[in-house]
Amino acid sequence: NASSTPVVEYRDVRKQYGNFTALDGVSARVNRGEVLCLIGPSGSGKSTLLRTTNALEVIDGGQLYFDGHPLPSSKAEIRKVRQRMGMVFQSFELFPHKTVLENITIGPLTVLGISEAEANARARVLLEKVGLTDKADRYPANLSGGQQQRVAIARALAMEPEVMLFDEPTSALDPETIGEVLNVMKRLADEGMTMVVVTHEMSFARRVADWVVVFDHGKIVEQGPPAQIFDAPREDRTRNFLSHLG
Ligand code: ADP
Ligand code: MG
Repeated sequence: NASSTPVVEYRDVRKQYGNFTALDGVSARVNRGEVLCLIGPSGSGKSTLLRTTNALEVIDGGQLYFDGHPLPSSKAEIRKVRQRMGMVFQSFELFPHKTVLENITIGPLTVLGISEAEANARARVLLEKVGLTDKADRYPANLSGGQQQRVAIARALAMEPEVMLFDEPTSALDPETIGEVLNVMKRLADEGMTMVVVTHEMSFARRVADWVVVFDHGKIVEQGPPAQIFDAPREDRTRNFLSHLG
């Protein structure tokens, strides 16, 4: 429902690294149940914006709203907000000495304080959702990259987040395992998960995004529905970026 409060709203967000302007007045929103894809050349500020969403990067100007409220500034409050956002990175960052099941249950057990039985039951449901029921007792090193990334997605979902943030989730994967991760993400989107996805997978963005934001040099050069961005880009810089992808 586009008229309701956005889950995430960026208003004129600015971020500096010393004298370097990484985000130069970025405004965009993510509506509940929608998928926002961030695309653009390397170094254009996509990851920086994604990381401002849960205050992994603190903004230097503008405003950022989560569920209609400005992001808090105290560490304790930020931690609470962060728990409501799932994050998936290019590098899966699983705990290597924990099994697949333990990787998924540790957050709910230690942070949410739910019972072991409930955490295990939740993890089993999620393993089924990502197609890894038979891997529950394996260690990450024994899984393919695509399988590890699906565990990372299940681990994030176990915290029952209100929004999922993905930063190039398939960029570190062998080509043959990319599709299985994108399929899991597509299914999540179909189920109504609110998602922000930094990606170079243009066919995914075209099929799954409700809204696409094109970055260049810390600025949004164009944003709109995928049909407009991919089929009728209005900005030269968007056309150039898309054509360079080949
Ligand atoms: P993208 O994800 O679009 O490739 P990033 O958001 O990672 O781009 O980076 C945007 C720009 O900010 C790049 O030029 C990058 O070098 C710079 N940058 C990112 N993080 C830092 C940092 N911690 N310190 C200094 N510069 C940074
Ligand atoms: Mg990046």
